[in-house]
Amino acid sequence: MSVGGCTLAPMTTVTIDALRPELDGDLLLPDDDGWEEASRPWNASVQQRPVAVVRARTVADVVATVRFAARAGVPVTVQPRGHGATKAIDGCILVRTGELDELSVDVEARTARIGAGVPWGRVLAALDGTGLVAPSGSNPSVTAVPYLLGGGLSWLSRAFGTGASVLRAADVVDATGEVRRVDAGTDPDLLWALRGGGGDFAVVTAVEIDLPEAPELYGGRLVLPGELTAAAFRTFVEVTRTAPEAFTTWVTAMTFPPAPQLPEEIRGRSFVFVDAVHLGSPEEAEALLAPFRALGPVLRETVRPLQPSDLGTISEEPEEPPVGITSVNTASSLTHVDEAFVDTVLARVGAGAPLGYAQIRHLGGALRRGRVEDGAGLRVEPEYSFWAMGMAPSPAHVQAAEDAAAELRDAVAPWSTTGSTLTFHREGAPLTDVFPAEAVRRLQEVKRRVDPDGVLRSNHPVLGG
Ligand SMILES: Cc1cc2nc3c(=O)[nH]c(=O)nc-3n(C[C@H](O)[C@H](O)[C@H](O)COP(=O)(O)OP(=O)(O)OC[C@H]3O[C@@H](n4cnc5c(N)ncnc54)[C@H](O)[C@@H]3O)c2cc1C
Repeated sequence: MSVGGCTLAPMTTVTIDALRPELDGDLLLPDDDGWEEASRPWNASVQQRPVAVVRARTVADVVATVRFAARAGVPVTVQPRGHGATKAIDGCILVRTGELDELSVDVEARTARIGAGVPWGRVLAALDGTGLVAPSGSNPSVTAVPYLLGGGLSWLSRAFGTGASVLRAADVVDATGEVRRVDAGTDPDLLWALRGGGGDFAVVTAVEIDLPEAPELYGGRLVLPGELTAAAFRTFVEVTRTAPEAFTTWVTAMTFPPAPQLPEEIRGRSFVFVDAVHLGSPEEAEALLAPFRALGPVLRETVRPLQPSDLGTISEEPEEPPVGITSVNTASSLTHVDEAFVDTVLARVGAGAPLGYAQIRHLGGALRRGRVEDGAGLRVEPEYSFWAMGMAPSPAHVQAAEDAAAELRDAVAPWSTTGSTLTFHREGAPLTDVFPAEAVRRLQEVKRRVDPDGVLRSNHPVLGG
């Protein structure tokens, strides 16, 4: 039998129940109290259907689960939170790693050891005052390990490369249930795959990463009125043509839905956000922000000297999933942006349209110097990434938002290209949208070597689903 791409041996709940006494942590089956909460991902609009959930308390729990799964012929998948929720894991045993929460920082060695359940917010907070930083993304609730396994695009990627580039070692439970340390000495090929190739190769229980130096950090958000959206997007095009690698800026058009639960001052209104982080002095950063400030009134701002823990707050993203709203997204990698691109996007996003949110992030810099030989997810060629979203309050709105997202994806095709990270990969799209073809082939070879029986399954299976 095959469910959601997972090949299953004949399996009953009674059979899986035999795993329960082997665990310190909890095993939940569909009839158990708490099943709904345990199996629901962060992105609850995806109805995942695992056959069981293991809340691992120890590495031994992971070992027991993988060995059991290998014997029973049921694949194992790992998902600490489920920002990357997927139907690809239907029929699998889902391991939650939230309790594998070790975290230690060695300031002198400039390294950190991070357990599989630790969110970026905790890692960043531990770095405040150290002069060191970690390559987290925009949301502190995203878990560090899957982000690093998925490449990871951060505020600092233009200066330091993808998140995966700092991954120096991983403690894993492999597909046979063996506990192993993977580093450049023990298994360089597997380390290469873990550096951005995703969660298909081993269950990672902890990673060691290098921590780049960041003696000065400055930045935050400028909120401008919606009338300035086109001007701010055009200014972004100009500023990013020559911005240094130490300066990263993102520009976002946002129209809040007319939902009664939102405060009156934002309900149904449009704004444009200019978010920036600079690895350097306030004076240098302000010179780069000046063209945006010159556009008109700044309604609100958070621009200031930053500590690492502030990096997760700049974009003011929700840490808990919005209730009762389905988000519909489209993402593209771009070779360049220009006025025609801005016009194309803003004609389709904003007040009254099914898509209320559009963001361009500046990439480039060190991302283009990353070497595929050093890690599957180290090189990102495109100069920009683009992301648009609709927040659909009802099923009727979902279809309209999906149609609008597909139309927008087609409309920006002339600027679009391949090359990205798995963390932004659209489910079902070919892996060559993310990696060069030779890297996809090498990932498939590694998968066949380390997991020939397909015991482990990620949200982006390298051998297809
Ligand atoms: C609001 C928001 C903001 C975001 N911002 C950014 C950003 O700035 N930059 C960026 O790069 N990404 C960003 N992302 C994407 C995010 O990095 C991915 O969704 C990523 O998968 C992490 O999400 P998660 O912690 O919920 O992991 P999950 O969705 O829980 O897991 C994702 C996958 O990782 C693998 N995995 C997880 N844990 C393990 C493990 N221990 N061992 C082996 N495999 C494992 C599995 O294949 C799993 O399916 C954002 C996502 C959201 C929703």
